[in-house]
Amino acid sequence: MLYVTETPLAEKFDFTDESVAVTGGASGIGRAVCETFAAQGANVTIADVDLEAAEETAATIEEEYGTRALAIQTDVSSYEAAAEMIDATVDEFGSIDVLVNNAGLSTRTSSFLESTPEDWDHSVGVTYFGTMNCTHAALSHMVEQESGCIINYASDSYKGNDPALPVYGGAKAANVAFTMNVAKEVGEHGIRMNVVSPGTTETPATEDWLAEYGDKVLESYALDRLGQPQDIADAVAFLASDAADWITAQVLSVNGGYIRG
Ligand code: NAD
Repeated sequence: MLYVTETPLAEKFDFTDESVAVTGGASGIGRAVCETFAAQGANVTIADVDLEAAEETAATIEEEYGTRALAIQTDVSSYEAAAEMIDATVDEFGSIDVLVNNAGLSTRTSSFLESTPEDWDHSVGVTYFGTMNCTHAALSHMVEQESGCIINYASDSYKGNDPALPVYGGAKAANVAFTMNVAKEVGEHGIRMNVVSPGTTETPATEDWLAEYGDKVLESYALDRLGQPQDIADAVAFLASDAADWITAQVLSVNGGYIRG
C-alpha cells in the first residue's frame, strides 16, 4: 500500500477557473500574488485604492496568462467597499474561492507618544479593519459554497520586536488572533484561514527605507538576503493550494530566518 495519494503535487497547485481576490493587488507583494495565481490558471480580482495601477495589472495578467482579471477600486477600510468588491468578484467569476487580505500600511514612527489617533485610524483601518471587512464579506459566500480559503498577513513586528512600528505591529498581531479564532468557527464549512508573515521584502513600500538602512537590515536575516515579492507569493499560493488541505489557523513566517524573531 502506498501512502501518497493519486493526485500529483503539481495538480494540487492547479487553480484553473478558480476565483481569487487580492487586496492591494496592484503593487509589490500583492501584484506578485495576483500574477502567481493567474499563472496557475486562476481568474483574479485586483482590489486596490489605486485604480490605474489595478487596471494596468489586470491588462498585463490577461495578456500574459490568458486568464480573466477584474480591476476594482477598493478602499478596504470601508465595509461597504469591501462588500461591493467581493460581490463583484462573485458576479464576475461565479464564486470566491480564495481571498488574500494583502493590503496593509506600515507607517514607521520615531515615537508612539508623538503619534495621533488619526495615524492609528489610518493604519489600523487598512491593516486590521481591512482584513476584517473583506473576510466578513467573503465568508457569507464561502459558507454558502461550503468551501474557501483566506490568507491574512502579519509581519515580524507582530511579535513586538520593532518599536518603530507600534500601531502597525499591533494591527498585525490582531490579524493573527482574528484569523486563528475565526478559522475555528468556519472550519466546519470546509473553509481554511491562515496567516503569512513576511520578513523585509523589496517592494515600493520599503524602497526608500531600504535605500537608507538596507545593509543594517540585512544583518538580521540568516539567509543573507532580503525577501522578494515572489517569495511571499509562493507561500500564499501554497497555503491556498490543496497541498495545504489540512492546514488552518496557522502562521507561516516567510522571513529568511529573521534572527530577532
Ligand atoms: P506596497 O505598498 O508595495 O503595496 C500595497 C498596495 O496596497 C498598493 O497597491 C496600495 O495602493 C494598496 N493599498 C493601500 N491602501 C489600500 C486600501 N485602503 N485599500 C486597498 N488597497 C490599498 O506594499 P507591500 O510591501 O507589497 O506590502 C503588502 C503586504 O505585506 C502588507 O500587508 C504589508 O504590511 C505586508 N508586509 C510587507 C513587508 C515588506 O517588507 N514589504 C513586510 C511584512 C509585511
